[in-house]
Amino acid sequence: MNALAPGSKIGVLGGGQLGRMLAQAGAQLGFDIVIYTDEDDSPASRVAAETVVSGYKDRAALTLFAQAADVVTFEFENVPAATAEILIDAGAHVRPSPRALAIAQDRFDEKSFFLHQGVTTAPFAPVASQDDLGLALEKIGAPAILKTRRFGYDGRGQVRIETMADAQGAFAKLDAPSILEGFCAFEREVSLIAARGTDGAIAFYDLCENQHKNGILARTLLPASVGADVEAGARAAMTKVLEALDYVGVLTIEFFVMADGTLIANEMAPRVHNSGHWTIEGALTSQFEQQIRAAAGWPLGPTTRLADIEMLNLVGDEAEAWPALAADGEARLHLYGKREARLGRKMGHVTRLKRG
Ligand code: AMP
Repeated sequence: MNALAPGSKIGVLGGGQLGRMLAQAGAQLGFDIVIYTDEDDSPASRVAAETVVSGYKDRAALTLFAQAADVVTFEFENVPAATAEILIDAGAHVRPSPRALAIAQDRFDEKSFFLHQGVTTAPFAPVASQDDLGLALEKIGAPAILKTRRFGYDGRGQVRIETMADAQGAFAKLDAPSILEGFCAFEREVSLIAARGTDGAIAFYDLCENQHKNGILARTLLPASVGADVEAGARAAMTKVLEALDYVGVLTIEFFVMADGTLIANEMAPRVHNSGHWTIEGALTSQFEQQIRAAAGWPLGPTTRLADIEMLNLVGDEAEAWPALAADGEARLHLYGKREARLGRKMGHVTRLKRG
């Protein structure tokens, strides 16, 4: 497929804030963004050129969407595998490939894939029953974390096991195929966001340092407080993963950094990422523009960081501070247009650039 000309249609599966910011970036380059979502009045649909509202298994609607879009990408990774198959059957070009989606959707497959690429993970074992949990604990030891293999996000679908006694009944709490993971007493959490183009070129953003509150990303800081060797290690892991998947698009890998500088890959997101929102003002090319460029077969843009950065998420009622933030000349304010501020819902973010 040749590079898409401006005026082409780029389909995005998912209608949340990531789709909204992708639509804004796509419009900047002259593309029409078509959102596919199962949600009426979604944050993305209100800024996109077109929206299809239907279920992720509606073959007829997905086929029309595939035929309308010159390329299809996605903004959330829980798109059912069947959806990607329907799109490909209908002749869509899907970038990144559904293989990356399938791996990222299952924590066991994801960690196995990392190990296969020589990327270090926490010790882990599959758990399909309470008996399996006992065996896995013997192997891995406590403390550990039991996590559902699929559909966990922002810390949901997890049980901490501090002592062997906590394991009693733990499987029943999740009641789904799971993995047990050894607990990593990490010093900090970082994420690496990078993109790979159709020509195989790779562009890395600087490493992000992430702080979570109640399992949800609260704050991202750049530069991360790690040495150049840690950053180089993260880039080497990213390169292996991107190349093994013949990946096209933006990919994020989250790592734990141990006190001795060891990097442990926790998970990957085959998409733009919350910890990369700072790139809108803080880098020469935002992660959203980069994703559009990669999907369209354009050359990747430069990722140079322009300043030290603090990005704060506005979660739940934190977005009510918008009048003060709007009056703060140092705060670049983004609100996602969500109608209701539910507990734990990401409503917006603020980026501050610290120029020296
Ligand atoms: P996850 O859903 O895997 O991203 O986990 C959510 C958060 O739980 C992470 O950002 C960590 O803060 C924490 N966490 C997850 N896995 C581990 C682990 N193996 N050891 C220590 N903390 C973890």
